[in-house]
Amino acid sequence: MQTAADRSYDFLAETFDAAKARNAAPVKMWTRGVPVDDSSKEQLLNTARMPFIFKWLAVMPDVHYGKGSTIGSVIPTKGAIIPAAVGVDLGCGMMAVRTSLTASDLPDNLALLRAALEKAVPHGRTVGRDMRDKGSWAELPEATAEAWSALDAGFRRIVEKHPKLEKSNTANHLGTLGTGNHFIEVCLDEADRVWFMLHSGSRGVGNAIGSYFIERAKEEMRRWYLNLPDRDLAYLPEGTEGFDDYVDAVQWAQSFALANREVMMKHAIAAAREAMAIPFEAHLEAVNCHHNYVAREHHFGENVLVTRKGAVCAAEGVMGIIPGSMGAKSFIVRGKGDPESFCSCSHGAGRVMSRAEAKRRFTIEDHAAATSGVECRKDADVIDETPAAYKDIDAVMAAQADLVEIVHTLRQIVCVKG
Ligand code: 5GP
Ligand code: MN
Ligand code: MN
Repeated sequence: MQTAADRSYDFLAETFDAAKARNAAPVKMWTRGVPVDDSSKEQLLNTARMPFIFKWLAVMPDVHYGKGSTIGSVIPTKGAIIPAAVGVDLGCGMMAVRTSLTASDLPDNLALLRAALEKAVPHGRTVGRDMRDKGSWAELPEATAEAWSALDAGFRRIVEKHPKLEKSNTANHLGTLGTGNHFIEVCLDEADRVWFMLHSGSRGVGNAIGSYFIERAKEEMRRWYLNLPDRDLAYLPEGTEGFDDYVDAVQWAQSFALANREVMMKHAIAAAREAMAIPFEAHLEAVNCHHNYVAREHHFGENVLVTRKGAVCAAEGVMGIIPGSMGAKSFIVRGKGDPESFCSCSHGAGRVMSRAEAKRRFTIEDHAAATSGVECRKDADVIDETPAAYKDIDAVMAAQADLVEIVHTLRQIVCVKG
């Protein structure tokens, strides 16, 4: 018989048989040596009660409480999707590219490089008297217009059926960062080579699509008088129009997110070339991966819908990105294709405390110390993103050593936050 020592995961709260006996799916956790809060455990057990979970939930070491379902979890389903589990930042993810630059090519004054990146990519909250959204384009740059032309027809098809989505921000958000947790970084790898890395998703339009279908799923539940352990577990059953429309729209939003990261990367690199005034090659290695999405995949010989909410595909040989925090290491990884995890890994270190808690606990001085050596924001508004608000990335990587292999270790020297 297989014992806990043979496995790289533990069961949450109960054994496989106990879960079966009470009609819930088992929950397998790759969380050895990292903290998991009780609210996440409770949330996972609620999700595990949904009757359409395929085999088990796979929980990554960055797990923490989230709206709808737990962040850092993999939810394989058959016959239904839970839109709130996919979330509202559809296709949120990471992109990283390696350049031909090395540390010695970088200017002494990194503030200028940071300013150039901030100027090249719209980001941040709506501020100022005119309430102009700092995070959108007033005039579309060429790269955005070009990327939008490949997305335009798909969006028209969606709004034709769902006119409520018509007024979303679309092309004017393509190639823009967003707020809060989203970032652009300049990093050095283990050989002192320069990488550009960024984190963003499908912006306003993805949010509109995600929210719209979450509401539709809730309406559906009310119509059938279905009681759920949590209203946010409302689902769309396969074979219904809502399901088909959601799959179509979510796929489109995920393409938007991929393109958003490509356009941003293009602008970031162009800005760096101009600011540094030295020619360099980019995209010597390139990874662009979602960590908030749903996809049709094949597992254990069956076709399955896999929702990764704060998790990355780690199929054998597939490259992924696991960021740490504003002041910690990040990793370029290669998937080992572990079937038990549905070929997944974590999407980061994961939060250890809420934003409010981080703001209560830490001062600007704490934050400045934790990000010393990084050219980044050190103001009060960014304290909810301070490194100590996240789990220890080394512990997180150790807990998923069976899921991914580390290919590069990155350390940021510039960090632009949304
Ligand atoms: P999320 O998509 O859940 O907002 O964030 C993904 C992960 O990114 C977090 O769990 C955290 O580990 C990591 N992270 C957050 N902020 C930063 C940052 O400024 N730089 C880097 N490299 N990683 C970050
Ligand atoms: Mn996001
Ligand atoms: Mn994200």
